[in-house]
Amino acid sequence: MQRKLFLRYVGATFGTIALTPVLTACGGGDALAVLPAEAAPSTAAAVTATATSLLPEEIAALKFMREEEKLAHDVYAALYSLWGANVFYQIALSETTHTEAILALLIKYCIDDPAADNAPGEFADPALQTLYNTLITMGQVNLIEGLKVGALIEETDIRDIHEKMAITDENDILKVYTSLLCGSGNHLRAFNKKLLEQGVTYVPQVITQEEWEAIASAPAETCGG
Ligand code: MN
Ligand code: MN
Repeated sequence: MQRKLFLRYVGATFGTIALTPVLTACGGGDALAVLPAEAAPSTAAAVTATATSLLPEEIAALKFMREEEKLAHDVYAALYSLWGANVFYQIALSETTHTEAILALLIKYCIDDPAADNAPGEFADPALQTLYNTLITMGQVNLIEGLKVGALIEETDIRDIHEKMAITDENDILKVYTSLLCGSGNHLRAFNKKLLEQGVTYVPQVITQEEWEAIASAPAETCGG
């Protein structure tokens, strides 16, 4: 009896000191509110319960997409400052909503944000860091090369989002991915239009010619909601 009371006391202490800040940051308050006090002895147990509702590959995919959408934003922001073309500015704004939509999922599922401490142009994933550096080098040659970088990023996003959609059955995640995919189609058409205005016929590098033509010839879509 004494021991049980002691454990309850320790649990309550954790609940007061450690649980509160984590709950406001991840999972929302409801996830733990339904647990009896004895079942919530530490934040670690509660966080694990939420995070493990996803497969490791679903978690990895969300972390990757958080940074890939940030990469799109950061490249477009840099190219806008170089070339002043409004297409980069407008699409960078859209990429902000994309990376924040993924961040909302990271928070919901109590997954660490890989972009939390990173400035523009900085990435936790070494492959994305290398890609960013390469794309900036390519895009700073001239406006046309910058627009081609835009199309290349969107092709890459389309391929990667399709891959990530294939490994999850979570409706909230699929909804966000579908919205991002829709956005990438619009962005790809926007970059293609600007390239055509410059007399350039873009040749797809990542997706097939068939996919490219299907997307390029489709009308603009209203995405997400
Ligand atoms: Mn995007
Ligand atoms: Mn995009």
